[in-house]
Amino acid sequence: MQLDFVRNYRSRRYIVRVRPDGSVRATVPARGTLAEARAFVERNLDWINRQLQKQPPRQVWEDGTEILYRGKVVRLRVGREVTFADQVVAVTADLRPTVERHLWRLAKRELSHRTLELAAQHSVAIQRITVRNQRSRWGSCSRRGTISLNWRLIQTPAFVRDYIILHELMHRRQMNHSKLFWQEVAAVCPDYQTAEAWLKLHRHLNQSRQ
Ligand SMILES: [Zn+2]
Repeated sequence: MQLDFVRNYRSRRYIVRVRPDGSVRATVPARGTLAEARAFVERNLDWINRQLQKQPPRQVWEDGTEILYRGKVVRLRVGREVTFADQVVAVTADLRPTVERHLWRLAKRELSHRTLELAAQHSVAIQRITVRNQRSRWGSCSRRGTISLNWRLIQTPAFVRDYIILHELMHRRQMNHSKLFWQEVAAVCPDYQTAEAWLKLHRHLNQSRQ
């Protein structure tokens, strides 16, 4: 368990918090001591463990980890060692945030471009495109015509990405999931059921806590 003690001079009491990344932060109040903070954490261990159990463990991305990229399994390759004199320092930080940031940047450019392309191709008017980190959705379409897409679509094959974009674009014609809506989808994306099946199989991708 990663445990950090943080002094907060405005705080009057000890506070313990489980962060989304699974680390634990204990606040030491103005008049508190580190020893008391430790005792406080120990008294609350049951509660902390319960909070930790609610969170699925986050997979660390490191050298050799296999991730999905454009529908293919690729392996991260890193040669990272810092050496000086007779010292060798291994750098073992989690690469996930760095690689994810890069993928997100790539997704922003690519998904916006592709959405404009498909919107023009099917004469669908849209207002705005946002590429976001959505916890449980691949995309959405607002009444005003904003298409929001999950950046993780950069990890799916192109036909799946296109399906999600077309799905959202067809909501500009039918703001629901009626039979009529699915007919519109099938007309522009005949293999949409294959895409749905792929998404179902890779459900875990769409959980930012994977
Ligand atoms: Zn929908």
